[in-house]
Amino acid sequence: METFDVIVIGVGSMGAAAARELAGRGARVLGLEIFQPGHDQGSAHGGTRITRQSYLEDPAYVPLLFSAYDGFRELEKETGRDLMRLCGGIYIGHPESQTFAGSLAAAKLHGLDHEVLTASQIRERFPTMDPHDDALGLFEQNAGYVRPEETVVANVESASARGADLRFGQRVRGWSAAAGGGVEVTTDVGTYGADRLVIAPGAWAPELLGDLHLPLSIERMVFHWFAPDFDAVPYDAWREENHPVYVEQTYENHQIYGFPMTDGPEGGFKLGFFRVGTPTTADTIDREVADWENERMQARAQELFPHLSGETVMAKTCLYSVTPDKHFVIGQHPEHDQVSIACGFSGHGFKFVPVVGQILADLALDGSTEHPIGLFDPMRPALQQSLQPG
Ligand SMILES: Cc1cc2nc3c(=O)[nH]c(=O)nc-3n(C[C@H](O)[C@H](O)[C@H](O)COP(=O)(O)OP(=O)(O)OC[C@H]3O[C@@H](n4cnc5c(N)ncnc54)[C@H](O)[C@@H]3O)c2cc1C
Repeated sequence: METFDVIVIGVGSMGAAAARELAGRGARVLGLEIFQPGHDQGSAHGGTRITRQSYLEDPAYVPLLFSAYDGFRELEKETGRDLMRLCGGIYIGHPESQTFAGSLAAAKLHGLDHEVLTASQIRERFPTMDPHDDALGLFEQNAGYVRPEETVVANVESASARGADLRFGQRVRGWSAAAGGGVEVTTDVGTYGADRLVIAPGAWAPELLGDLHLPLSIERMVFHWFAPDFDAVPYDAWREENHPVYVEQTYENHQIYGFPMTDGPEGGFKLGFFRVGTPTTADTIDREVADWENERMQARAQELFPHLSGETVMAKTCLYSVTPDKHFVIGQHPEHDQVSIACGFSGHGFKFVPVVGQILADLALDGSTEHPIGLFDPMRPALQQSLQPG
């Protein structure tokens, strides 16, 4: 049997970053992945992911974002790839909404540069937008988007250059951890051994971490690209030089988020609902997008973007893995010290990729990390209280 220091299951967003970090620290790494680098079957495709720092979900994420921003820049430098663009971000809602108030709380607590804009100031500055009169927006320049497929490929390139042995087209069928230490991993090709194991399976977590009975909801999400009416608001106002990324929820309408036009005037204006998915599994997801789904999305989007009235340019499905409290699951396996896990990124994990890679390498090689990950404890009450039977 071939043996390694560490095996990483899942060379996707988090697993590729972990493999890179581990190899950089001198570990002999085997990475195992069902698909090819940068594939479109999991959670890391569709061209863009928002990155932002005034973090509406919880200010505890902010220090991790500082490390993640540094990590993206370092990866860009090393691979020569264009991975992160900071075009600014705005988070719009009524003054008490989590979207606005949560962002403001994080900005204030961490002293982040920001501006608070009224609805009329938003209209004036961003002519694509027509927010509700009561809404406020928190604008921060230090936000924008990262490129998911390019980032995974960059991490794969860098991990391989550092000596990691990454094998694609192999599906892990099972793993075991011995009481005295060490692990074995079986794929449809062979069985491998290692001292340590990192499991970063994305939406396949129920299959590979079934023993933990984590209360994860695997959900089908849709991104939509619509054509704006350039006669009403010219193209210049929609492009990334003049348009921020955004999250918006005002009163009872569902939270939406999206991007400026990043791929030219024909590329469409991309947006989606935030965490309004349909339960599915990674292997059975329906990849077709129905006309009614595009129509529902466009109608909601027009509440903020009244001139987003053209054709659907494209629509794609993707997979979310959602925890009950929407916080990640990162830590050591509760029953096996030699196994670390990372899953449940609840639709907001990509911007953390470089720092999650560091954390997973810390946990695998040192058994602990200096990064603040208390919020992500696999044994936290929010996960235990809602344990599924069985
Ligand atoms: C529609 C959508 C929009 C999003 N928008 C944002 C955003 O704007 N900002 C943001 O920060 N985040 C966003 N996210 C979330 C972010 O993309 C995810 O949190 C992140 O990609 C999850 O990474 P992962 O490594 O857990 O999963 P993945 O990147 O899917 O990686 C898991 C890998 O494990 C492999 N694998 C699974 N099982 C096996 C097995 N048995 N054997 C071998 N390999 C296996 C899979 O093939 C896959 O490659 C969005 C997600 C979606 C779906």
